Amino acid sequence: MKSKDIRAKFLNFFKGKEHLIVPSAPMVVKNDPTLMFVNSGMAPFKEYFLGNAVPKQNRIADTQKCLRVSGKHNDLEEVGYDTYHHTLFEMLGNWSFGDYFKKEAIAWAWELLTKEYGIDKDMLYVTVFEGSDDDDKLEMDNEAFDIWKQYIDEDRILKGNKKDNFWEMGEQGPCGPCSEIHVDIRSAEEKAKVNGRDLVNMDHPQVVEIWNLVFMQYNRKANGSLEVLPNKHIDTGMGFERLCMVLQGVQSNYDTDVFTPIIREIETITSSKYGEDEKIDVAIRVISDHVRAVAFSIADGQLPSNTGAGYVIRRILRRAIRYSFTFLNQKEPFIYKLADTLGNQMGEAFPEIKSQERLIENVIKEEEQSFLRTLDQGLLLLDKVIENTTSKTVDGSRAFELYDTYGFPLDLTQLIAREKGYEVDEAGFDSEMQKQKDRSRNASATETSDWVILREDDTEEFIGYDTLTADVKLTRYRKVVSKKDGDQYQLVFNLTPFYPEGGGQVGDKGLIEVPNGDIVYITDTKKENNLIIHITKQLPSHLEDTFKAVVNDEHRRLSASNHTATHLLHQALRTILGTHVEQKGSLVKPKSLRFDFSHFSKVDADQLQQIEDFVNARIRENLPLEEQRNIPMQKALDEGAIALFGEKYGDSVRAIRFGQSMELCGGTHVKQTGDVWHFKIKSESAIASGIRRIEAITNVAVGEYFENVDKQYEAVKQVLKNPAEPVKALQNLQEENASLKKQIEALLKDKAKNLKGDLKNEITDVNGIQYLAKKVDLDAKGIKDLCFELGNQSNNLFLLFGADNNGKAILSCYISKELVASNGLNAGTIVRELGKFIQGGGGGQPFFATAGGKNPAGIEEALKASEDYLK
Ligand code: ATP
Ligand code: MG
Repeated sequence: MKSKDIRAKFLNFFKGKEHLIVPSAPMVVKNDPTLMFVNSGMAPFKEYFLGNAVPKQNRIADTQKCLRVSGKHNDLEEVGYDTYHHTLFEMLGNWSFGDYFKKEAIAWAWELLTKEYGIDKDMLYVTVFEGSDDDDKLEMDNEAFDIWKQYIDEDRILKGNKKDNFWEMGEQGPCGPCSEIHVDIRSAEEKAKVNGRDLVNMDHPQVVEIWNLVFMQYNRKANGSLEVLPNKHIDTGMGFERLCMVLQGVQSNYDTDVFTPIIREIETITSSKYGEDEKIDVAIRVISDHVRAVAFSIADGQLPSNTGAGYVIRRILRRAIRYSFTFLNQKEPFIYKLADTLGNQMGEAFPEIKSQERLIENVIKEEEQSFLRTLDQGLLLLDKVIENTTSKTVDGSRAFELYDTYGFPLDLTQLIAREKGYEVDEAGFDSEMQKQKDRSRNASATETSDWVILREDDTEEFIGYDTLTADVKLTRYRKVVSKKDGDQYQLVFNLTPFYPEGGGQVGDKGLIEVPNGDIVYITDTKKENNLIIHITKQLPSHLEDTFKAVVNDEHRRLSASNHTATHLLHQALRTILGTHVEQKGSLVKPKSLRFDFSHFSKVDADQLQQIEDFVNARIRENLPLEEQRNIPMQKALDEGAIALFGEKYGDSVRAIRFGQSMELCGGTHVKQTGDVWHFKIKSESAIASGIRRIEAITNVAVGEYFENVDKQYEAVKQVLKNPAEPVKALQNLQEENASLKKQIEALLKDKAKNLKGDLKNEITDVNGIQYLAKKVDLDAKGIKDLCFELGNQSNNLFLLFGADNNGKAILSCYISKELVASNGLNAGTIVRELGKFIQGGGGGQPFFATAGGKNPAGIEEALKASEDYLK
């Protein structure tokens, strides 16, 4: 069965069991400090399990893009070395939110695997949770055990410990016991030798877990304790690539049609062969896996960068480059070329991979180029380090420096060092690494307490589109302590006018008034999962009272102005540059806006002017805001609304229209475009290959900007003595300046000529050598020219010139080459020694050398002292 049919069969099966089929959520997580990437199928549904939001239907199924490269689930180091862990993989899942539970979940999993997919039940083993006698004191999952017994022989049901059979998403959050399904794909011969039962959960590459059925019934709190969830849920996850391995009768995920087209392409491009040499195989698996992770991330809007999620992606790509550099001997970028094959392979299920192919290629290529350059520099540095190593061991701190500044991982340093017969001090490296980790942990450590719940029943409502003030009640709060920000409180209200940071727009600021007259300032508003969190330095008194919440209206008004301008800019870019322009990032603040977009060349001055004019024309038209708050996603798209990749939209969306500009957007906007006043582009630049950035201002900031420009202009005019045509006046000045420079050069030449004549007469004879030591009024270059001109006319000359150049002393010594040879005089040594008179030093060649110093008063003495060298 082809992989795409396997995927379709899964979704159809659960559709038949009344599940709603939904598309994969974006892989990059926003608004959740505990998670960077979706690491399991349940992550996008977390809020449903926690009861912070209500799902549209209580049975859902999907295939979810997952990435396991950081945090609690991190498989990165396995990838490439085994045949069944990936960084990015698809997790097929079915969910029950407070609906069916263990009985149905187990029955359907069994039906799908054995009947629909036709897996022989003698290949299957299942596990159930055995209970725990630690602090959690959990009982064995007898319920699951009894259900499984109806389907499978008891000796194929294994009891498992907490590590394998109690599933937790992270340090906090929903969790519960689970039943895993394992498949034994070994040959009959192998099976006869060792019972499959003994290989379950033993990291055997042919006895692998394919499906995990999680019975969600607890929430793990920040203090580590478990609380029982109000409703019981089902969360299942089946590794799609592993399922394909089983159904396609191959021994490795990499031998399924999910991977073979990419692997064939790598073989062709790099002239290597998969399946002959383990080292090369690892490299090929790493590259074929990592290119998927990076491409999906870029398509979801997360580009490689130096911080956060972007840095994780950069490191994944660099790992692939390293393996291709070291084991496939690739010194030129090539991974980007795989984007095409990947697009053809995955484009049907994930259209973003195909539609963003060019961007993916560009970004990967640029990353490859720059990291290959870094590797080259690192190699040179490593050579130097080895050259200067007296023992046969490379210092741990040097190895760490290579890692830290050049991205040279220890194993690569070791590999290269070993080739040259050196070892690396690994303990030293580890200790430097630990030190760095401690430093960054200390800098970013935060401690978040559990929520204190004051009111359970209210779900928080955002009313800030319509009003900036409201009477609110606190429903929950918690304390957050961090080194960086000190003590803070996070407040959640039953309703709020405060806009939480999102869609590029910064969060509202403002205050709340407590009935006793106290005022508590809200410094920022953020969204976390489904909660709107108000950040303060101070917990209000009278927690049970009604407070008056007041948004800072200036902050909001200017943010709205920039947000509306951002939409108009987006429209202008798509109109003037073309519809290939896609938003890749945006930051909307009160003072300015920033917009990143895909476009493959510089936007020239003429285009920028057109863009600015286009936006200002829309502002002049004073187009009214047309807001549709709850329209079906499809209807909005049909009306021409622009949606962004990597954004998580619900089924009903908010659409914002100003004339022909229509976008799905949750942000705040002005009532009519005229309220933006004016739009001014401040800069246009590249932030990555194929991604441009425009920074602009609107509203009062434009006024301030022009006022400033005007002031400077007035100042310039005044300096120029208020000419009628200031530009002309400046040009005249420049021309005058250039002609004066020419005159000065000519005069200086003349002067040097005269000086030469005079000086010739001053040369005296000391011990048979023509000698002159004198202070002159020339710069270093003038002195040098003079020396060589005088020197041309004699082969028995010793010159020492000193000069005071605006308080800086110079001494230059010239000795005819013939004298250097016959008498052993050395100008370099002489100026170095005489340098002490001028409090400086210098050097050069035996026939000409110069010293500089900070004491011109010493020049005369130096000149006098020079005669000694001839005696
Ligand atoms: P394993 O023990 O094999 O690492 P797991 O216990 O981490 O698996 P779960 O967290 O239960 O796996 O995830 C559910 C399913 O997702 C697994 O049964 C497996 O089929 C698949 N899966 C998990 N991790 C990966 C991965 N890194 N690459 C591919 N598939 C995976
Ligand atoms: Mg795992």
